[in-house]
Amino acid sequence: MSGVNDIRSTFLDYFKKNGHEVVDSSPLVPRNDPTLMFTNAGMVQFKNVFTGLEKRPYSTATTSQKCVRAGGKHNDLDNVGYTARHLTFFEMLGNFSFGDYFKEQAIEFAWKLVTEGFDLPKDRLLVTVYSEDEEAATLWKKIAGFSDDKIIRIPTSDNFWQMGDTGPCGPCSEIFIDQGENVWGGPPGSPEEDGDRFLEFWNLVFMQFEQTAPGERSLLPRPSIDTGMGLERMACVLQGKQSVFDTDLFRTLIGTIEDVMGVKAEGSASHRVIADHLRSSAFLIADGVLPSNEGRGYVLRRIMRRAMRHAELLGAKEPVMYKLLPTLVQEMGRAYPELVRAEALTSETLKLEETRFRKTLERGLSLLSDATTDLDKGDMLDGETAFKLYDTYGFPLDLTQDALRAREIGVDIAGFTDAMERQKAEARSHWAGSGDKATETIWFELKEKFGATEFLGYDTENAEGVVQ
Ligand code: ATP
Ligand code: MG
Ligand code: MG
Ligand code: MG
Repeated sequence: MSGVNDIRSTFLDYFKKNGHEVVDSSPLVPRNDPTLMFTNAGMVQFKNVFTGLEKRPYSTATTSQKCVRAGGKHNDLDNVGYTARHLTFFEMLGNFSFGDYFKEQAIEFAWKLVTEGFDLPKDRLLVTVYSEDEEAATLWKKIAGFSDDKIIRIPTSDNFWQMGDTGPCGPCSEIFIDQGENVWGGPPGSPEEDGDRFLEFWNLVFMQFEQTAPGERSLLPRPSIDTGMGLERMACVLQGKQSVFDTDLFRTLIGTIEDVMGVKAEGSASHRVIADHLRSSAFLIADGVLPSNEGRGYVLRRIMRRAMRHAELLGAKEPVMYKLLPTLVQEMGRAYPELVRAEALTSETLKLEETRFRKTLERGLSLLSDATTDLDKGDMLDGETAFKLYDTYGFPLDLTQDALRAREIGVDIAGFTDAMERQKAEARSHWAGSGDKATETIWFELKEKFGATEFLGYDTENAEGVVQ
């Protein structure tokens, strides 16, 4: 009962039995929202249903939704490989009420499924609620019989869920499991929260508002429910593991990486990063994203190149990512036939990107190593070098940051942006005086859209050039 396919069907069947319409996952590229980079939660395809803009023939639904969190408000790219619970691609199981049931029924459904359907031990469970939401705390006491110490009141945005800067939102209540005293970490809200002892696996969002603009919120037509349970995290819990990377699917993928690379994982972040990034790359390509220099394509390129740098770290001398693909397709192709349909394209895309990147990767890494020989923990790589790596060697900024992370060396981002601005200004000045304004404008527009250095406006929060 603890493989991902069983968990998925247990969840969907339970809500189906309780009158919910089973709806397919929507693609990773949101159809209804140009401001959102990737589908980052189950509620995204229902956004307009919550706000009343769109009507559906059902008022409750359940899904298993493909999600990518590698940009914008929910960006886990930097976490992957370094925490036990974050993936860039994951499946989110959810149940939704569009003005049908609200808080009490949602908590009841969740408690029953967790304790009876999945049979989790009650004494290891605890919940968080938004500190202003006394009603939720009272309901948890009544439904689960929790004492006060099992209901943690959180005053921060962690318990006020938002899809992005705009869209439906509301206070939320998260369910955690205590993985035992031998695992480091403290309960949510404590300074040690980032440890792995207390694992969040389900979030119940009490959708009440729509964020229409920064600082502007209106009430939804009717209070609604949106929940999200991480499938891989549930597998982790049910398989008695402490990390999503120790679950069966990831063990298989990491086993293939060990075979292909000839290097044992032994807790290495590189194997984990490669396994995760292979999944997100393959799912993104299957949903029509291809590596490019802007927008979604650039996020994909960043993910792919990051994985490729880790492959290089493990000693790869030639493209390897495409050799790992058949295992992924074998493991996940039945649940996601689009992976099978796109297999040839994905394989070619991975191979081509890795072939290209390998041409500069080695020289880039040796430049990076020369530039940082004298740097110590807490120091910064200068922006000029980071920009050179980006511009000449095709290193996305976050790849450089990732490469320096183990040594606790940062990157001067302001310096990087300056160097980029300077290069742009210089390029423009060379054109000044050509007299042909129209051509000049077109050339710069094209260069900014397609050129090697066209990707502008890099910042740490929102590094993909699409408004979130
Ligand atoms: P965390 O605090 O661990 O980063 P979150 O609060 O950002 O998680 P939510 O936005 O509440 O996550 O998403 C709902 C559920 O989806 C989470 O409870 C978790 O089970 C799952 N989930 C979220 N982010 C990830 C991820 N990066 N990898 C795997 N599962 C995830
Ligand atoms: Mg998160
Ligand atoms: Mg959380
Ligand atoms: Mg959460």
